[in-house]
Amino acid sequence: MVDGLLDVAMPEVDPDVVVLWLSDPDTTAHRHGVGHQRMSEALFYLDAELDRIQAWLSAEGRLESTNIWVTSDHGFSEHTGAVDLDALLEPFQRTLDDGTLRIVAGAGAIYVRDGDEATIRQIVDVLQVTEGVGAVFTGAATPGDAAGAIPGTLSFDVARWGHPRASQVLFSADWTDQPGAYGLPGTSAQGGVAGHGTTSPFDIHNPLVAAGPDLKSGAIVDVPSSNVDLAPTLLHLRGIEAPETMDGRVLLEALDAGPDPDSVVVAVDQARMSRDDGAYAVTAATSSAGDATYLDYTIVERP
Ligand SMILES: [Zn+2]
Repeated sequence: MVDGLLDVAMPEVDPDVVVLWLSDPDTTAHRHGVGHQRMSEALFYLDAELDRIQAWLSAEGRLESTNIWVTSDHGFSEHTGAVDLDALLEPFQRTLDDGTLRIVAGAGAIYVRDGDEATIRQIVDVLQVTEGVGAVFTGAATPGDAAGAIPGTLSFDVARWGHPRASQVLFSADWTDQPGAYGLPGTSAQGGVAGHGTTSPFDIHNPLVAAGPDLKSGAIVDVPSSNVDLAPTLLHLRGIEAPETMDGRVLLEALDAGPDPDSVVVAVDQARMSRDDGAYAVTAATSSAGDATYLDYTIVERP
């Protein structure tokens, strides 16, 4: 905490929206683990910072007219060790004529630069039978389809990953709901102490708490939502219609003027892809509200 930070006079600045990014508890949880004593301390200080902001707004006579939204960019899992991807790809790796590597991989994305279809299928085959590998994604069999072009894979579209620079294969580390070192559930097969980036529900689901004059009071809203919905919602509150190019939906059910959350129709769905030999299956669980569909988690089965 830096006392006096908000005492700086800024008379000419009167923004409609202020984004305040606080690096904790993220930094502390990545470094020390989910539920570590220092993470609890970080949460304590974070709470005090929010209190300080509200006190300032109150002193300025602005608290009653300000909506405050609090969210995080991800959830958290304890990491239990990553698949050795270099070793897994080694049989397929070689140096191309120009001296560069044939296969480039990072963060679960695998790019076979010569585009050899047989190699891509073989890599998928190996991933599917490797413990620690979770959902495997490839390009959609047909656009918008949940099935990937390679049997037993989900399509990139399920994870909103179908883009012009996408590699041919993407995989998520596998996850469990087992408790970590400090008793909080959620582990994933990744390197380092703790983090995110998988399709585990513990990584995907994050908090969204909001209070203010335009919001329902004391309501718990179970309608699915995502951080991608924040921008159109904030624009809506300023009377600005989101452009068609913008992703996300307006979270009307959270707004005071919006519908009762219980009246919003939520549809849940599961898409299961399995390999013919039964060695691997992956299921993607999604939920939808209106036109928006959200990936809730994926789960794999191996005999
Ligand atoms: Zn983080």
